[in-house]
Amino acid sequence: MEEREEVRELRNAFYEKYFQDLAEAQSGNKITTYVTGYLPSEILLAMDIFPFYPEAHASVGCAFNPAEEVDKLCRSAEIAGISRDLCAFSTCALGSMHAYPETNGGMPRPTFLISSAYTCGIHVLWWELMQYYYQVPHFIIDGPVLCADYEPRHIEFFISQIKELISFLEEQTKSRLDPDRFRRAIELSESASWYFSEILELRKTIPSPISFRQLTVEMFPIVTFPGAEETTNFYRALYEEVREKAERKISVAPREEFRLIWDNIPIFHDLDLIDYFESQGMVFVYETFFKEYWSKRLDPAHPFESLAKKYLSGWTNRRLERKIEIIEEAVESHAVDGIVVFQNKGCRAYSTGQLDVAMSLQERKGIPHLIFEGNMADPGGHDRNKVREMVDMFKDVLKSRKAGRKNG
Ligand code: SF4
Repeated sequence: MEEREEVRELRNAFYEKYFQDLAEAQSGNKITTYVTGYLPSEILLAMDIFPFYPEAHASVGCAFNPAEEVDKLCRSAEIAGISRDLCAFSTCALGSMHAYPETNGGMPRPTFLISSAYTCGIHVLWWELMQYYYQVPHFIIDGPVLCADYEPRHIEFFISQIKELISFLEEQTKSRLDPDRFRRAIELSESASWYFSEILELRKTIPSPISFRQLTVEMFPIVTFPGAEETTNFYRALYEEVREKAERKISVAPREEFRLIWDNIPIFHDLDLIDYFESQGMVFVYETFFKEYWSKRLDPAHPFESLAKKYLSGWTNRRLERKIEIIEEAVESHAVDGIVVFQNKGCRAYSTGQLDVAMSLQERKGIPHLIFEGNMADPGGHDRNKVREMVDMFKDVLKSRKAGRKNG
């Protein structure tokens, strides 16, 4: 099925807005901040502050640049004293700043920086290096690292942090957060999350109507501009299109034979791997990377509480037992045949507990796994052929399991 005209137009409208804001930020005509993944950007959009995501910048750079260029960025980071073994996105982004100082590696100069201390131990340190580089103020939003699900005291604490963030922003911008604009940003973010989560729900349909690769690309608006009109409009149109595909049983693969979970961040320098899986009839239908971040619902009547619940419940802030429960539920709801465990050396925060999840699925549900090591952004040492051979072998495992179930 051809892409709908409306989807194309609204995607273009989003990117027009995004690149216009980016150009204004680059020329110093817009207040700009660098934000770490997963903090309340809705507030920034309501205050007309451009939130620039170095993590997204690094992932786009890895997806669209040749491996040699990405390798060059990583080496520049190493020369500047930043270990390649910590976080691959930070290595690429900091490497690009050091490799191309005249343009800060393609990143607009920030007015100030905001990092979060509850998603990943690297964020604050990474931002401190950028604070040293740019010599601008840096606000750290704190939050509990949860050993269980959040409790009222966690929510209260995070709300107090959001309020401190607002005070910081008001001081920096010399303007007040307009309550009407804040409410509108929350409403828009909630609508975008609703459409995005419904798109993910449609992948329960057999065959699945949207691919892991397309979602990897299409998540950019909800990550960068969650409270913008253009974001919500785009996901409304995309949802309508995906729903039609689901109704018409249009598959992303020539033949959907096996339904899989991808566990971890996509491999941005080898997104073709997803196409390879699909060419072999193996389709990804669930990834925590989307579901556990961008389908969180907000209640516009309780904006602060909603933001706290959304941003405290990201995947990397979940305890292992809850992760196992979530994945087991996904296996049932999405009729999953196997799990691909990408042991990502580029993001330890995401990779912790993966083997326990896979072993538990094997033992309790009989779900087989493919485990391989690599790096989401740093292409060094990635053997494309070897990984594809492992995919072929995994398909044999899935086939024999299927045959065994038929016969047994
Ligand atoms: S290690 Fe992972 S979560 Fe942490 S900053 Fe890097 S990409 Fe983000």
